[in-house]
Amino acid sequence: GTPVLEVEDLHVEFRSRGPVVRAVRGVSYSLAAGETMAILGESGCGKSVSSQAVMGILDTPPAVISGSIRFEGRDLLGMSAEEQRQVRGPGISMIFQDALSALNPVYSVGFQIGEMFRAHRGTSKKEAREKAVELMDRVRIPAARQRVDDYPHQFSGGMRQRVMIAMALALDPKVLIADEPTTALDVTVQAQVMDLLKDLQRDTGMGLVLITHDLGVVNEVADRVAVMYAGRVVETGTTDEVFSRPAHPYTRGLMSSIPMLEDKGKRLNPIVGAPPSLSAIPSGCSFHPRCPMARRADDARGSAGRDCTADDPALREVAAGRRAACHYSEELLHG
Ligand code: SF4
Ligand code: MG
Repeated sequence: GTPVLEVEDLHVEFRSRGPVVRAVRGVSYSLAAGETMAILGESGCGKSVSSQAVMGILDTPPAVISGSIRFEGRDLLGMSAEEQRQVRGPGISMIFQDALSALNPVYSVGFQIGEMFRAHRGTSKKEAREKAVELMDRVRIPAARQRVDDYPHQFSGGMRQRVMIAMALALDPKVLIADEPTTALDVTVQAQVMDLLKDLQRDTGMGLVLITHDLGVVNEVADRVAVMYAGRVVETGTTDEVFSRPAHPYTRGLMSSIPMLEDKGKRLNPIVGAPPSLSAIPSGCSFHPRCPMARRADDARGSAGRDCTADDPALREVAAGRRAACHYSEELLHG
């Protein structure tokens, strides 16, 4: 069937004072109902900004957004701001790393969950409170009825995260975007919250976009993965394929210890250095300053004859169902 969410050639630039920040440079992906797609990468690679554009929460200007974002086949970027709100409101929800700043400290959690129903469905105050109790139960907050009038600060970090999930699920969204939803939590609680999200997804059939830098989380829950670097998707495929046979040196680097090509058996350490500033993206392949495989055209090893410092690799099909943006992906895949 039609994917529930299709992002195509999405660009986001920030133009204010100083150099233009190219936060997202041509990102495309699609998400089916019931599917989990992870967007993986280090911080500062455009993962959050691309999702904030999908969610419609970037200020424009300074953000300039282009490309298309289709929800159930309709392009959101072609709609008026009001139409966009009407489609996204019930259709797409987002949860964040920091529940404490997403919640209002002066209102009870029950009021804030119930507000979703009052604002969007015109539900009465009494009925909205009942709905809040039901949702708190659904996200497994113990003693929901006793806690519905408590305030955010009276909950633990993990329980606050559940309150935010309850708010996000109130209107039965088709798509949930989760931006590092467990990063701020301790390990046991992380696993519980991820289990909850997976169970809720199974019950509702919603599509889940999971933004994370955590390979373990991706491996556990994602059907497919898009690896982002310097504002682009540099590799995409099923999680199993990408993890077992990465086609991009950055993905290999993220997996932190990989056999080197020229010297089989020798292990490569985690990628050195940091992602580039998005206002000063390197020429050619943006990963070249950190890439252990980078080469120039005159390099004897450069069988594809490409100069990584000058030729910008496009995201292309490198194997069935696999796309990568590296001149030398075939060498990675086939040795
Ligand atoms: Fe490395 Fe060159 Fe591939 Fe970029 S194109 S990832 S620099 S080998
Ligand atoms: Mg982020």
